[in-house]
Amino acid sequence: MMTEASEYPALWLKDVSRGYAQGETRLEILIEAEMALWPGQSVALVAPSGAGKSTLLHIAGLLEKPDTGDVYLAGASTAGMNDAARTAARRTEIGFVYQFHHLLAEFTALENVQLPQMIAGLARREAADRAAQLLDYLGLGHRHAHRPAELSGGEQQRVAIARAVANGPRVLLADEPTGNLDPRTAHQVFSGLTDLVRASNLAALIATHNMDIAARMDRRVTLRDGKVVELP
Ligand code: ADP
Repeated sequence: MMTEASEYPALWLKDVSRGYAQGETRLEILIEAEMALWPGQSVALVAPSGAGKSTLLHIAGLLEKPDTGDVYLAGASTAGMNDAARTAARRTEIGFVYQFHHLLAEFTALENVQLPQMIAGLARREAADRAAQLLDYLGLGHRHAHRPAELSGGEQQRVAIARAVANGPRVLLADEPTGNLDPRTAHQVFSGLTDLVRASNLAALIATHNMDIAARMDRRVTLRDGKVVELP
């Protein structure tokens, strides 16, 4: 069931718990964690390595199921969905950006952004038009025909961002998207990302170690004792 995006958080983690068996014991990573992410908002997830950032992002992105608790997308529960429905929700509602761009080497920047739209059923021409718009918006108007190897690290990540939002997801999840960029390039990539989040009313949760960048985002959260905690 689709609901008005403005009435509900784009993403709501409710009482999410997740642990891993470790030999005889269990390692509890998330313990009834709760977090709401609203449309148009960029939230930084800042926590030390091993705290559970990837676990949280995987659960938020419907890549993993929590042991208990539920993930709501625009007010709709996902706990009861079968695998096909989860996959469909993940494809249409969620975009991912990783630390490494994972662009297809043999395709141009434009084609990399065009492809997921064509897989989702859009005509080649319409997909190309939207891909061009997104690349232009992210300052890559002069790079449409370049292959990933012909782009700088920052340009590659901007293409990866364009690809992640190509199908108009509600939620953008990113795991250290600027982890291998120099500070100035990282800042440029983040500016493009946060502008896009606001302009398209997306909700973004972005794991980062970069405190300068986290400080510029709308909210900052961390993981403490298995819970999501707001930072000032
Ligand atoms: P972060 O992304 O913050 O570095 P992770 O979510 O990757 O943290 O991991 C949190 C903790 O859970 C770590 O201690 C890690 O070793 C453990 N962990 C993650 N995935 C598994 C798994 N599949 N099996 C066992 N332990 C895991």
